This record gives sequence, structure tokens and C-alpha cells, in this order.
Amino acid sequence: MPQTSSLIPPSSQLDADLAQWLAIHADDLNRNDAVSEEVVPRLARAGLFSIGVPEAQGGAGGDVRDATQAVADVAEYSMAAAFAFWGQRSFIQYLLQSPNRALAERHLPSLLAGERAGASGLSNAMKFLGGIESLQVTAQARANGWRLHGKLPWVTNLRRAGFVAAAAVATTAERAPMVIAFDSALPGVERSDDLDLIALRGSNTAAIALENVAIDAADVLHEDAGRYLPQVRPAFLSLQCGMSIGLSRASLRQALIRSESRRGALVDTICALQQELQTTVAQLLDGVANDHFQTQAAPLFRLRIRLAEIAQQAVGLELQAKGGSAYLAPDNNDFLRRWTEAAFVPVVTPSLTQLQAELQRHHVTRA
Ligand SMILES: Cc1cc2nc3c(=O)[nH]c(=O)nc-3n(C[C@H](O)[C@H](O)[C@H](O)COP(=O)(O)OP(=O)(O)OC[C@H]3O[C@@H](n4cnc5c(N)ncnc54)[C@H](O)[C@@H]3O)c2cc1C
Repeated sequence: MPQTSSLIPPSSQLDADLAQWLAIHADDLNRNDAVSEEVVPRLARAGLFSIGVPEAQGGAGGDVRDATQAVADVAEYSMAAAFAFWGQRSFIQYLLQSPNRALAERHLPSLLAGERAGASGLSNAMKFLGGIESLQVTAQARANGWRLHGKLPWVTNLRRAGFVAAAAVATTAERAPMVIAFDSALPGVERSDDLDLIALRGSNTAAIALENVAIDAADVLHEDAGRYLPQVRPAFLSLQCGMSIGLSRASLRQALIRSESRRGALVDTICALQQELQTTVAQLLDGVANDHFQTQAAPLFRLRIRLAEIAQQAVGLELQAKGGSAYLAPDNNDFLRRWTEAAFVPVVTPSLTQLQAELQRHHVTRA
């Protein structure tokens, strides 16, 4: 029976059953795939995928800000579950912002109900947009559709029960790259075993090989990746920031509890970081609300960098507040879990290295 030392009241508003389940399985979700298939159905049962989706499209209303808060709520318990949530909710967002309404109508019901997993294979595309990498999937025209070839080396939320994933694909020299969706059941789609990760092992993260995969013209999310990706990027990044926010909240809460119960030397530092976290989250949500980031990417990049730094500082403070006990290895050491979860924050695309380079380019162009 797993221990439940993470059952300390969180600041989040999660459904109580889900919160309990996540608290009990957070360690498993980080270390192995024992309960990885259960994550999507459980998040769906708690209504999380419908948050921020218009009622007219089967959702609960609200917008990306609400969805970001929900990702943060889950990340307070488990980054692996929050990352699967991010994959599913990002894919839902791609459908909401796609001009292909028939594709959205086809996929939204099963994704919102958690009957099908949704995955975002757009890191390569985001790096392509930043001029870092060429596209790793190509599409050749066929009658009424396309044939896909290539590889997506890192994709999360690839449930073995089945998934639908988004990828950007290069076409011909004359045509712009597109963003498409493909189903795991199609012949030629091969999911690897789970990647041998140091953490987040219950996130269903694997590689996908695409070998002569026939998709229809009706599976195109957008004909022009260069126009579509900047449109979806604020939501993509905001949802991703939800992970840093939740992790920071959990670590800072633990740090404060420990520090207050000892000599309190760190209390001021912890409270100052909590305050800064709150201000940074407010700036992020305001920018998302007024569409400011659609045209101004630089302030969004700075917020993503700052939130990632806060997450690193928060786990560092948790370590310092716990002292030597953080370094002991009981079965369920929440600090150790968060320490390894936090290592992922700077490397997920767009990585901090990439964002800093883009900001520098932006600075040079403006100077
Ligand atoms: C657990 C996990 C889950 C993931 N899940 C997904 C997913 O669901 N979907 C998805 O699409 N991707 C996913 N990824 C991929 C991830 O988002 C990154 O793309 C990947 O980790 C970074 O690619 P890389 O290791 O090839 O970095 P590299 O390309 O080797 O680059 C190393 C570092 O340098 C930076 N860099 C490289 N070239 C430049 C340059 N010219 N200018 C500035 N900076 C540069 C990179 O951003 C990175 O920080 C996942 C990764 C992990 C670890």
C-alpha cells in the first residue's frame, strides 16, 4: 500500500476523489507506468478537459486561463499527470483554433470524455518556427490526402489504448508546411516502448515512427503551419506554464510548513517568492486574456522563463527548509519526486536556452 505523505491540503480546487487518487499515486506516476493508462479517464471524469472549452463545442465554458489553472491544480500533486493533461488539452486547443470545423466535431466529443488520448507532437514544429530544426515528418500528396513519413522522437500522452496526435509536416518546396492530425490506429503508425525517463515515467511518453501513413485532406488542422503555430503558441505556452505554477505552489507550501515549524529562517524568502509567483501568474493570465501574446511573443517568453526559474527556486527552498530529512530515502519522498519533476521544466520545448536565444535575437533586431 503506497504511503500518502503528500495528502497535505493543497491550494487547488480539484475534485476530491481525483485529488485523493493523485496524492496516492504521485510517486508511481513519476517512477513507473503502473497507473499511466488511468490518468486520462480519471481527469475526464473530474471534468478537467472541458474547462476553458466553449459550451457550444461541448465544454464547460471559460477560456485558456481556466484550463491553465486546472493544469496547475493537477501539477500540485503530480507533474506526470499534469503533463498528460497538457498533451490532451493542447490537442483540444488545436482543434478549437483550427479552421477545419469538421475535424473538431469529429474528435472533440471523445477527447473531452477522455475516451481517447490527444497528444501534441509540435515541439519539432516550435523549434522549426524558431529556426532551430528542420521538420522531421514529410507529407506526399495522394488522391484526397497525404502520405506521412518520418519520426517524432518525443511525444507524451500516447495511451496504449489509442491516441490522436498533432504534427507539423513538410510538403513540397512550393507549399507551406502544414499541421495535421493522425490516429494511432492507422497502418504505418508505430509507437515505441515508453522512453526510459529519469522521472514522469507514467506520462505515456514515447517516440512515434510514421511509415507511409495515409491521412485524408480532412485531417489537416491548418494548411499553413507558419500562420497557425503563432496563433496557438500563447495557449500552448500558457498551459505549459501551468505545470511550473503547480509545482512551485506545492514546493513553496511544503517549504513554508517546514520552515515555520523550525526556526523560520526562510519564511521571508519563501513568502516573497510566493508573492512573486502570484504576480507572475496574474501577468500571464492577463496577457492570455487580452490576446496580447498573439502579436507580442517576447513578454510571453519572459514569463515562461521566469516561471521556470521560480519552479527551480521553489524546489531549492523546499530542500533547504527540509534540511537533511529531504535527503533521506523513504518509499514516498515528495521532495525527491518534485526535484526530478522540476528537472523537466527548463528542457521542454520551447526550452529556456531556446527562449533566451530568441529574446536575444529580438533585442538585436529592435536595437
Ligand atoms: C519527458 C519529456 C516529454 C516530452 N514530451 C513531448 C511532447 O509531448 N511533445 C513534443 O513535441 N515534445 C516533447 N518533448 C520534447 C521536448 O519538448 C524537447 O523538444 C526536447 O526535450 C528538446 O529537444 P532536444 O533534446 O533534441 O534538444 P536539442 O535540440 O539537443 O537542444 C539542446 C538544447 O539547446 C537548445 N537549442 C538547440 N538549438 C538551438 C539554437 N539554435 N538556438 C537556441 N537554442 C537551441 C534546445 O532548445 C535545448 O534546450 C518531451 C521531452 C521530455 C524530456
